[in-house]
Amino acid sequence: MAKSKSRNLVNLNVNPCKMCMPMGAALAFEGVEDSMVLIHGSQGCSTYIRRHIATHFNEPIDIASSSLSEQGTVYGGAANLVQGLKNVAAIYSPKVIGVLTTCLAETIGEDITHIIKESGVASELKGIDIIPVPTPGYAASEYNGYFVALKKIVAFYAREPKVKTNHINVIVTDLTPADIRELKRILSLFEVEYTIFPDISETLDAPYKKGFDIKTEGGTTKSQLRRMSAAIATIEFGWMTPLGLSPGRYLEETFDVPLYSCPLPIGLNGTDLFLEAISKIYDKQIPVELKKARGRMLDAMIDSHKLNREGRAVIYGNPELIYAVSNLCIENGIEPVVIATGTDTNPLVEQLDQQLSRYRYNPIILKDCDFESIQEIAVEQKTNLLIGNSDGKFIKEKEDIPLVRIGFPIHDNIGASRQLYIGYEGSLRFLDLITNTLIDKKHEAYRDKMYNKYFVN
Ligand code: SF4
Repeated sequence: MAKSKSRNLVNLNVNPCKMCMPMGAALAFEGVEDSMVLIHGSQGCSTYIRRHIATHFNEPIDIASSSLSEQGTVYGGAANLVQGLKNVAAIYSPKVIGVLTTCLAETIGEDITHIIKESGVASELKGIDIIPVPTPGYAASEYNGYFVALKKIVAFYAREPKVKTNHINVIVTDLTPADIRELKRILSLFEVEYTIFPDISETLDAPYKKGFDIKTEGGTTKSQLRRMSAAIATIEFGWMTPLGLSPGRYLEETFDVPLYSCPLPIGLNGTDLFLEAISKIYDKQIPVELKKARGRMLDAMIDSHKLNREGRAVIYGNPELIYAVSNLCIENGIEPVVIATGTDTNPLVEQLDQQLSRYRYNPIILKDCDFESIQEIAVEQKTNLLIGNSDGKFIKEKEDIPLVRIGFPIHDNIGASRQLYIGYEGSLRFLDLITNTLIDKKHEAYRDKMYNKYFVN
């Protein structure tokens, strides 16, 4: 049986392969209708987060800050936070405000839940739900921050339902707005009712309009959030999520909503598992249109298999995404040589070993790692393909290894929100991109190699 090698790295990260917790939590709130985020900390934190989200999605993004300065840091930032909440309410009139902490706020011991309660600001700002989410930047990654926020939002709205409904919850991560639109198309083909949470399909990919709207449209609504506890099941793309962070697990344990934990529907097997879950919950056949798309994907996989066999890939990013992408590579004959994430609280090694047991692949798996380590091992292992977000572009430039982009952030290419990766259609587009990148790389050096082999000396 192939056994992947998990490497322990020196406990020093230079250019870590992750972002901080409030980044992930802010992304979660972007998928809630009419919501704003207020970050309790210094202005730099909100600027960093705003800039990343804005350049990835090419949408105007507002993230408020309580602007903690020296005075607030020494004497406590309660006054800044309360004033910040009032300002956000006055300027944006949102229905929901997510309050997130930062390294600074947590280090000086700010208890945002207590401050909000004791100050009475919540009752003063009637009609606005204020949801505090502790997200110490240094404690974990944006992946953890994202799920912590999802769980807090679900727990805020979920109540014991009077009657069960016939809808499913679909809790998502690492998807683009185009992916979410595809998810809706797939669910519509099954003719089922659903709540997608969080839904960034419009909030982070809005159609052009004349003039500037301070607020975007779309997102999961409050009533959709409230009915999540009444669903007949939850499908959660949280295969790697630690149990304590899973909103789907919370709904199951608290309200008996059965949880179907699935990997992201990327690749043949990943998509199969998602469709089978819907089919099982509703006792429905998989729609013909999706069966045909599966057949087309299988046909294309056969066509490109011989070309993909040359791939030796470094796959990096969030645990959920790299698990799904690794599976897509494996089922297409692309060898995952290095699989890396900056997050450490996930069962990546265990889950991948199960998948790899059928193949002779023996990848190096890096957890809690940085790009310096990824670069060193990528060169050592003679890889010819990088798959991940824009933060790997320096390895691409320095080592001349092509980069196929997926994940967050992508700010050195245009159109990240329009990329489709999920379902049979999206997986096939992504596979074609990988295969064509391998072909280009091969042809780039092909003539030189042949010349040196057969005509020099
Ligand atoms: S790591 Fe800490 S200081 Fe830096 S942006 Fe995140 S919360 Fe702010």
